[in-house]
Amino acid sequence: MGESDGGAVGSTPGWGWGGPGETDSWVWKVGDLQSFTVSSAYKLIRKDNEADSLLVFSKIWRSKAVPSTALLAWRVLENKLATRVNLSRRGVQLESLRCVLCGKEEESCSHLFFGCTFAWRVWCLCYRWLGVLFVAHNEPRFNFDQFRLILPSKTGFFVWNTIWIGVVSEIWSHRNTIIFKRGVADASEVFALVQVKVWS
Ligand SMILES: [Zn+2]
Repeated sequence: MGESDGGAVGSTPGWGWGGPGETDSWVWKVGDLQSFTVSSAYKLIRKDNEADSLLVFSKIWRSKAVPSTALLAWRVLENKLATRVNLSRRGVQLESLRCVLCGKEEESCSHLFFGCTFAWRVWCLCYRWLGVLFVAHNEPRFNFDQFRLILPSKTGFFVWNTIWIGVVSEIWSHRNTIIFKRGVADASEVFALVQVKVWS
């Protein structure tokens, strides 16, 4: 077992890959449903009695992001993404735990998406785009909640949720491209993709 670009580490309740070679195809596996519904996800999480997870989940789902990217963002907030640090904690042998985007620190969730100098450049482009200026927290849940204060109106909340999820998912996608396809780190490209996805 090694690195994969699927993103899950440990059990992500209810979800599985659609099949080999499908890079963005998730199948909801609760009951006899083959398609995702919010109510089935809620029931599953409630069963786990994780009040915090439920709260985070409800915030994530109050966005216009597609289910696959919302799920990825939820994993980031729950620290259940298959980063190199998380894989190592699960006993997966890796050649290096180093972040491929900066090459300087270990690839944890908080580093990859917020502490990394590459991620910081992407976020700065977003802040400039939104016309906001502030110091962001490196802990995923704090960072996510911070933006509710920046754009407090109802419209702002929905828009920001979607942007936040878009940035996180594009950073992860970019990281996978570098690891598995020998891509080159480009913060401007990541930000451009976020803009396209947010407004499409
Ligand atoms: Zn880094």
